[in-house]
Amino acid sequence: MADCLFCKIARGEIPADVVHKDATVTVFRDITPHAPVHLLVIPNQHVGSAGEIGPGNGALMAAMITAANAAADAEGVSESGYRLVFNVGRDAGMTVPHLHLHVLGGRHLAWPPG
Ligand SMILES: [Zn+2]
Repeated sequence: MADCLFCKIARGEIPADVVHKDATVTVFRDITPHAPVHLLVIPNQHVGSAGEIGPGNGALMAAMITAANAAADAEGVSESGYRLVFNVGRDAGMTVPHLHLHVLGGRHLAWPPG
């Protein structure tokens, strides 16, 4: 999508602190981190949210979670633990309508979330 913020980051048209990029996904640091480690994993191709994911998206989901696990390892939180979160829609606090997987770690994360 032409004016989607995360599409522009995936295309390199807007600067971001990118820690990994491959043919399928881009991983970058959240601009307003909620934990010492707060990364976003996005598909390079536009998908609106996890609410649009279905049985045909297995390869994309595997690529996103694989990238999230690798990023958690690179950030040093594989042993201490990390949280993977998909927010869907307004009540969940989704602010950019492009599928993104939050990777949070580096401190104790309360459960359930507030
Ligand atoms: Zn997009």
